[in-house]
Amino acid sequence: MKEEIKAHNNVLELIGNTPLIKLNKITQNMKGNYFAKVEAFNPGHSTKDRIALYIIEEAEKKGILKPGDTIIETTSGNTGFSLAMVSIIKGYDCILAVSSKSSADKIDMLKTMGAKVYVCPAHVSADDPRSYYEVAKRLHSEVKGSVYINQYFNELNIDAHYKTTGPEIWEQTAGKITHLVACSGTGGTISGTARFLKEQSRKIGTNIRVIGIDAYGSVLQKYHETKEFDANEIYPYRIEGLGKNLIPSATDFNIIDKFEKVTDESSAHTARELAKTEGLFVGYTSGAAMQGLRQLEEEGEFDENSNIVVIFPDHGSRYMSKIYNDEWMSQQGFFDSETAEIHKIEYI
Ligand code: PMP
Repeated sequence: MKEEIKAHNNVLELIGNTPLIKLNKITQNMKGNYFAKVEAFNPGHSTKDRIALYIIEEAEKKGILKPGDTIIETTSGNTGFSLAMVSIIKGYDCILAVSSKSSADKIDMLKTMGAKVYVCPAHVSADDPRSYYEVAKRLHSEVKGSVYINQYFNELNIDAHYKTTGPEIWEQTAGKITHLVACSGTGGTISGTARFLKEQSRKIGTNIRVIGIDAYGSVLQKYHETKEFDANEIYPYRIEGLGKNLIPSATDFNIIDKFEKVTDESSAHTARELAKTEGLFVGYTSGAAMQGLRQLEEEGEFDENSNIVVIFPDHGSRYMSKIYNDEWMSQQGFFDSETAEIHKIEYI
């Protein structure tokens, strides 16, 4: 028999179809069955691979993008990495306008992935010509054949999850999912996934509760409750990628039943606990999502028959200098001496 070579044509073929993994120990005293959709299994180690690939391929279909053209976005985080990765394979230039607050590590990572990085001053207002929003807009108008991804205000961000994350979860749970819990930043993940899942459950006469995880210092929960933007809600917080200081149009607030807020400190500790109990080395917002599950369970949101799916958005490796660094944790005041002792390294 002739043996075939079993290889993927390129890294992009590995985007999506991430595993659903049962949570066992960390949920031991909690009512319900808990399953994590672990998005770190994407080749770019986050859920943003899905939107990067989808939005770029939609632009190709519409004839907006052809090889040699340029992708532009304002992000130093997961979306920037995913866009740079897709651009390499598909032969586009990738320009990322990032804030001067971004760490050197992050900028080096984007450069490694072939992106042209513009570092813009963090202290200026959004409408200042030097802000990363304005720099991205200017470059988009100047560079012929460029696409500005604009993930917070791009409906395709929702569609990407409607077409991939939603159907995957429906199939993986055999339609038995009762709750979807996901972090909300742009809102693309929760809105697209929930839209698909709610449509399917309606067809078979069941209902799925959809709960967004928000940060203290963000406007999302208050906006969901009052339909009013309250600037008094805004203050700095440490979790990156969760919550927002504006109302993104990529969030479908009508499809979300409720928002739950979590703190920086509890989310950091819960992320570290996920590694120790489940062997899942995931990012800061995964800790936030798990922390949200705990609070919701205490509030009586779940019972023995609940099948809860939580989305873990990215990998722990991006947070080595933050939540997985004991010094950083101490500096934030997140460590009491007892915990610090457990993490002591012994030098021989
Ligand atoms: N977690 C992380 C680490 C992220 O980068 C993001 C994206 N901002 C989210 C969660 C939230 O996902 P979404 O933007 O789809 O709401």
